[in-house]
Amino acid sequence: MFEKKVWKKVPRAHLLALSTAGLLMGTGMMLNSGGSQALERKEVTLALATQPNEPDATSPTALQRALERQAPASGPAATEQTAPDFNEPKSEMVTGTLSSDPTAEYTLPEEVSGIEWKETRVRKGDSFSSLFKRMGLGSSLLYKIDHSLADKKWSRITPGQKIHFGFDQSGELVSLKIDKDKLTTWEISREDQKFALSKVTRETDIHTGYAEGTIDAVFYTAAQSAGLSDRLVMELANLFAWDIDFALDIRKGDAFKVIYEDVYLDGEKIGTGNILAAQFTNQGKTHTAIRYTHEDGYARYYDEKGGSVKKAFLRSPIDFARISSHFNPNRRHPVLHTIRAHRGTDYAARPGTPIKATGDAKVIFAGRKGGYGNVVILQHGQSITTLYAHMKGFARGVRSGKRVQQGDVIGYVGSTGLASGPHLHYEFRVNGIHKNPVTVKLPDAAPIAKQERSRFTSHAEQVMAKLDTYASTYQVAFKDNTDIAPSL
Ligand SMILES: [Zn+2]
Repeated sequence: MFEKKVWKKVPRAHLLALSTAGLLMGTGMMLNSGGSQALERKEVTLALATQPNEPDATSPTALQRALERQAPASGPAATEQTAPDFNEPKSEMVTGTLSSDPTAEYTLPEEVSGIEWKETRVRKGDSFSSLFKRMGLGSSLLYKIDHSLADKKWSRITPGQKIHFGFDQSGELVSLKIDKDKLTTWEISREDQKFALSKVTRETDIHTGYAEGTIDAVFYTAAQSAGLSDRLVMELANLFAWDIDFALDIRKGDAFKVIYEDVYLDGEKIGTGNILAAQFTNQGKTHTAIRYTHEDGYARYYDEKGGSVKKAFLRSPIDFARISSHFNPNRRHPVLHTIRAHRGTDYAARPGTPIKATGDAKVIFAGRKGGYGNVVILQHGQSITTLYAHMKGFARGVRSGKRVQQGDVIGYVGSTGLASGPHLHYEFRVNGIHKNPVTVKLPDAAPIAKQERSRFTSHAEQVMAKLDTYASTYQVAFKDNTDIAPSL
């Protein structure tokens, strides 16, 4: 059961890691609040290549599986993940153990008296019969083991995997350990004339990490020198994306504080988990986000008063995009060269850049429409519609009558219709009247539910106190050395 769950998660984790990298490389320049865009893009790419915090980002390692359980790296959905389950006992006993100690299943019994271990690494083309041959073991023993075990997946091996053979003093094979991944080992042990399989998962330790920083010019640089991994930087930006436009609003002197989870395995840091609380002070205004796990197990972020950090609408349909033309009722049209109201906001972006639905909606139009080119129109509730024009193409399944959720990709940036170059033209209408998408007051999402209010309040108080304590501890310990993030 457990290994099946893990297995299914691998491809998604893989995608997640790739999309994190992609996002950062593609949008690095947008985290900048000024200066040369092309240069910034290069810098971010280089920084990614040397990021020490997240090794093996391209292979589905235990780290990724660990990370996958937490909020994804991008998109507003980051606030909708379930709580991490690192602390649950993850061992699932199938049959038998080496010892009668009831807690043995939670640890790897490294030293069992009198067993001598030999290990071998699986090479390309290996099977258990070649491994047995290498160890000087006969095929009848292999047959006996396989016959004893109902779960035939024990013998699935991949190159690079480590297999440990345990022999007793008479040279007989009494135990076989197969490292399935960094966290899971399958152990086959001899019990009289039979063999039994147990699966052991090592537990990760969650420590609390804290980082803070003050922005000199570029948020990304400040966050990175505060010791935040790329993933946490993205998450932090996404967390406050409803209130702060990271392309336009960031100013020198803006500051942030973050409490997050550090994930350890055997005393070694293997990654980071969720953001537990964060504060971002932007142009003198402080925004707070507290992670709260609901009774139904879902975690969402709220401000200290219990208001949803998430809004019913994203401010922008493209991550960190640069605005190339603002809402302007008296604009000279770049193609038509006539005075023509610009009733939306233009976001410059490369062709193919994903465009997100800014709120939960029903698609009321997806197709070609005059100067708009390929356009999607979404209906949000009774009174609001949003429009996305000049698309290169539509995302799969986006057609009239379909429902979409906030953050869903609905299409890709292009230059169809009357467009001077690739960009997204975005309109926001309330009761049919065009509003400036950049300044329109966005409706709030639902606050904390009444029945969870008191539990939330005490949690929020605790978290806010922690944030204060960490911040003052940090000040004392790292005032002159702010590029080191302490683990608290
Ligand atoms: Zn436009």
